[in-house]
Parts: sequence; structure tokens; C-alpha cells
Amino acid sequence: MAALVKMFIGGEFVDSASNESIPVTNPATQAVLGEVPFATGAEIDRAVASAQAAFQTWRETPIPERARLMLKYQDLLKRYQDDIAKGLALETGKTFADAQGDVWRGIEVVEHACNVATLMMGETVENVARRIDTQSYLQPLGVCAGITPFNFPAMIPLWMFPMAIACGNTFVLKPSEQDPMTPMRLAELFVEAGAPQGVLQVVHGGKQQVDALLTHPDIKAVSFVGSVPVAEHVYRTSTANLKRVQALAGAKNHMVIMPDAPKAQTIDSLVGAACGAAGQRCMAISVAVFVGAAKAWIPDLAQAMSKVAPGPWDSKDAAYGPQISPQARNRILDFIAKGKEEGAACLLDGSDCRVAGYPNGNWVGPTLFGGVRTDMTIYREEIFGPVLLVLEVDELDQAIATINANPYGNGTSIFTSSGGAARRFQHEVEVGQVGINVPIPVPLPFFSFTGWRRSFFGDQHAYGKQAVRFYTETKTITSRWFDDVAATGPNMTIRLQ
Ligand code: NAD
Repeated sequence: MAALVKMFIGGEFVDSASNESIPVTNPATQAVLGEVPFATGAEIDRAVASAQAAFQTWRETPIPERARLMLKYQDLLKRYQDDIAKGLALETGKTFADAQGDVWRGIEVVEHACNVATLMMGETVENVARRIDTQSYLQPLGVCAGITPFNFPAMIPLWMFPMAIACGNTFVLKPSEQDPMTPMRLAELFVEAGAPQGVLQVVHGGKQQVDALLTHPDIKAVSFVGSVPVAEHVYRTSTANLKRVQALAGAKNHMVIMPDAPKAQTIDSLVGAACGAAGQRCMAISVAVFVGAAKAWIPDLAQAMSKVAPGPWDSKDAAYGPQISPQARNRILDFIAKGKEEGAACLLDGSDCRVAGYPNGNWVGPTLFGGVRTDMTIYREEIFGPVLLVLEVDELDQAIATINANPYGNGTSIFTSSGGAARRFQHEVEVGQVGINVPIPVPLPFFSFTGWRRSFFGDQHAYGKQAVRFYTETKTITSRWFDDVAATGPNMTIRLQ
């Protein structure tokens, strides 16, 4: 059996005592890279207890010291960026450049966490009544948990634990069981940066381990990123257990192409946004809405998409890598078959995709469907592969109405040279992240990641200022000092006097 992936509990990298495990594979070859254990109930309890014990001292650690840990951590992540990216490419199949991007977008959150003292500043008002002042503080919650998906094994764990820990909390991370080795590397570097024992724990597993965290009485808040059905389950179970929760879910992202858009840049952007990362991004564009005369560009899009092809992580020619697993590939192939069966026109078919030298890879070629109707399965479901659907409408209003009728609201974009059209789109579209001539508008960490509708369950969003609110409780202090003031008798009203 391949080496067991360690867990990180109580400041130590430990082997699980579990007798349940699954292999972690290279998606381009099926070579087994390691064996990931599914933590026992006792191990989950130990991880939470260790985080709970560490919280008592970590919450008292001065904020500049917490910021310094993040400064050191971002330095180490930058130093080992390529090394992390290589490991990440092996277990996800991503191209090296895309793997570097995955790490980089996580580093940006750690950079932001270095600014935690400013981010945690409360508010003060003097003289709210005579000689009475009010101030507010943000205080950490306690033990927080994070559950992450397979598609960004560096970036998404880094959306969570650095902000939570910088705010003074301790953390238990349960990364995706499909690529747990990158998160372990992140934990190793966190230790090297000087993280005190018990501040971060990493446990592995699937549904059972997640449910143990969601129902654990000592966990105060849950951050989740993953598919819609699991996000709904996480949201319901966490709230039923009286926990704070943010659950970021799946998507169906539309890009609107106006006839006045710059054609070459628009098509390039569309191809990258649909096929990049093998379409395994929650912000990937999966529906292109061509408006009016822009419909004439659909053959050019098919032509451009036919020129990109997947390949192994270290190939300079690979536009993207394999799907994460044979099951994920088969699911996409089923959708492609269903699209044909329901009458969509397959303008480019990537079902039978082969890559020389990699006969066992989970390859899917770029796939383009025209003649799509919104009642088709391929339109209603998130496919999560390099499959782009084309819708055709006559007016911008129809494009906006279509997007607003779709249940998801993660990301959308419009390509146009009209300020008026862009302004109308950004105002009227009911989607949380909007790009104007930017296909994948994932905000940098000084903003927050703001999916809407069925792409998000909760209130405060991930990273940015909203993460600080999510990982803290607000305390207000109203104070008066009796200095030279004569007694005035009891105040029998609610008004401050
Ligand atoms: P997934 O929902 O299968 O798994 C996510 C996490 O939940 C994993 O850690 C997994 O172990 C756990 N899990 C799986 N089934 C569970 C269950 N029944 N009960 C409790 N926990 C369970 O998602 P995935 O396939 O790893 O990731 C892809 C999905 O994530 C896509 O739908 C994608 O759109 C979404 N995603 C969303 C965002 C966002 O920001 N909105 C970002 C990245 C990915």
C-alpha cells in the first residue's frame, strides 16, 4: 500500500488509526500517490479538543504577534510556491502554470491576513450621553472548522484558516479526500512559520467526518465550499446545531457577448474561462449568451475551442489537465450524451479525447453545444467540465432575464464596448460577482467572494472584511467614569443619562 497521508493534530503529524482509506491518484496516469485515511471519531474529538485548548492561549496572543505569524507564513508560501504547485499539479492534474495560480491566489489571502490589526478595529463614539462613551471590539469565536473541495486544494484552505486564525480563533480543516496532500504541505509550512501547537489541525475523510464536525458541540463556526447538495446539507446541519455557517456552492455562470464587443479578445476570454482548469472552477463560464449580430461569431468560437487540448501538468502545450477522477470524467461524458439525446447540437465533441503517452488519463476535450434550451439537463445542472453551452437571444434584456431565471448566482460577465449596456447589466443582473470585459471576476482578498442565490448559503461571505465579521463576535462597551459628578438619583428609564 502507498504511504498513508498524515493528519495534523495537537501540533504533530500523525498516522490515523482508522482502517478505512482510499488512494490519492494522479489523474493523468492513475498512479497512486498516497493513501488517505478517514479519521476515526476519537481522532476528530482529539483534533477539536486540541484546538479548544489552544484557543485559550491563542486568543490572548497580541495581535501584532498573530500578524507576524502570517507575515512569516506568506514569505514561506512564496519561497516554496513552485514546490507546492508541483505537488498540487500531480494530485489534481492541473497544468503547472494553473497550479501556480492556485497557490498564488491563496497567498494573496495570507497577505491580507497580515493586515489583521487594522481589519479588527472596532468603532468608538465619545459622548453617546453625558460623559458616556461607547466602543466596540471584535473578539474571536473559538474553534472554527473548514471543509474544502477538490478543485483548489491550496487556494480554498487558504481562504479559510489564515483569516480565522489571524482573528484569534483556532481551526480544524477537513480538506477534500481527493487531493489532501497539498493541504498537508500548507500545514507543514504553517508549522515552519511558527504556528503554536493546536492552532491548526487537519483531519481527513468524507461525509461521516464532516458530519462529526458539523455536530460537534465545541465548534462555533463552519466554513464550507463544495457542491450545492452538500452545501445545503452543511448549512442545514450547522444551523440545526446552532453554529454560524458560510457555505459556498456550485454554479452555472453565463457570459453575455454583445455585438459591439471586441471579437478576438472576447473569444479568447471565453475559451479560457470555459476550458481553463478543465472547467473545474466554480467561476468557469459554462454558458455563452450571444446577443443579436454577435451570433455570427459562434463558428469562430468553435474554431478557437478546437485548437485547445488537454495534456499532462508539465507539458507546455497543454491548455488544461485531466478531470480529477474517472467518475468525474464519466459524469461529464454522461452529460454530453444527454445533451445530444435532448436535441442540442454538439458543435465540438470532446468525449473521445486521447492524449499521447497517457492512455489512462481522465481526459475530456473541449466541448461546445449550440441550440441549447433552458429546460435541457445540460443547462439545468452544473457539469463541471470543459463543456460550453451557447444560448442565442436578440436583446440584452433577454440575456439578463435568462440569467436571473437561473437558480445559481456565483459569477457572470458581459463583453461589450458600451458603457450603457455594461451599467444596465451590472445593476440588473442578480448574480454576486460581475465582470465587465473580465470573464472570471474572482475578487481579490480585500473584497469578499460574494456568490448569491443557490451558489451561497449563509450571510457573511468568504475572505475580505466579511471573513473578519464571520470569524468574530462584536462586543460593545458603554462606559462612564464618575469624576467630579454629583449623584443625581436613580435613572428609571432606558435612556442613557
Ligand atoms: P463536494 O461537495 O463533493 O465535496 C466538498 C467537500 O464536502 C469535500 O471535503 C467532501 O469530502 C465533503 N463531502 C462530500 N460529500 C459529502 C456529504 N454527503 N456530506 C458531508 N460532506 C461531504 O465538492 P467537490 O466535488 O469536491 O468540489 C466541486 C464543487 O465545489 C462544485 O460544485 C463547485 O462549483 C464547488 N465549488 C464552489 C466554490 C465557490 O466558491 N462557490 C469554489 C470551489 C468549488
